[in-house]
Amino acid sequence: MVSSLTTLSSVYGPIKSWRMGSSLGIDLIMDPSTCSFNCTYCQLGFIQRITTERKIYVSTKRVIQDFNVSNWKDADVITFSGSGEPTLALNISEVIREIKLITESKKTISILTNGTMFNNPQVISDVMDADLISVKLDAPDDETLRMINRPASEINLENIVLGIKALRKRFEGKMQLQIMFMPQNKNKINELVNLINEIKPDEIALNTPTRPYPSGWDMITRGAHGKDIEKIKYATKSLKTLTKEEAIEIENKLKELTNLPIISVYNN
Ligand code: SF4
Repeated sequence: MVSSLTTLSSVYGPIKSWRMGSSLGIDLIMDPSTCSFNCTYCQLGFIQRITTERKIYVSTKRVIQDFNVSNWKDADVITFSGSGEPTLALNISEVIREIKLITESKKTISILTNGTMFNNPQVISDVMDADLISVKLDAPDDETLRMINRPASEINLENIVLGIKALRKRFEGKMQLQIMFMPQNKNKINELVNLINEIKPDEIALNTPTRPYPSGWDMITRGAHGKDIEKIKYATKSLKTLTKEEAIEIENKLKELTNLPIISVYNN
């Protein structure tokens, strides 16, 4: 059996996730951390390879071997997340298909994504078999996007939003918008609400950076929670979070202005 935080496997956990319950992580990226964003709050620390290049980072054969010896039966949800942006992996659809065969489609398949790749229709096709897609949307304008998410140079907010809307049109599963609230965007609720109401997700996940920012990259950070954070070999920095009062105020405002169900890290 695979231990909860092995650094050698492309499958890790299950870990307790406030959004997902007991969640088994699938890492289609691994080494080094690779993403089209380099978020200032990323639990992986400074992203090692900032790119929009889609390719096979970890072979399907390897992921499935790791999955077969993992504790997948103990998980409620199989979550594609890991050491970067999972939709950069060209084999994401193939891996989802194979996992559904092994689990006889009895486990929820979820994807945590930054939403930057959905302006490519092929990427949308590749995630159609998921049950839940949780799409990041922290910024209502390019300036805030550059401040918080520090994207690859070719990425802009207009294309991200067009891609997310295209996903919303075609994807038949549940779509969640996840928003990380920080000092840079906590006063931009009205602007974010305008985008949310255009996209019309099924649900909003209100988040704030509860995990520290490591000063170096170590694969252990992909699933580090609670006491596991102490095992990170680099110094870590705590980030400014919302106060409980601010979170409640934002939650109420989002509820009132979007009429959508909201789950909040503060209630979990
Ligand atoms: S999108 Fe996710 S993996 Fe990529 S930098 Fe941001 S938090 Fe990290």
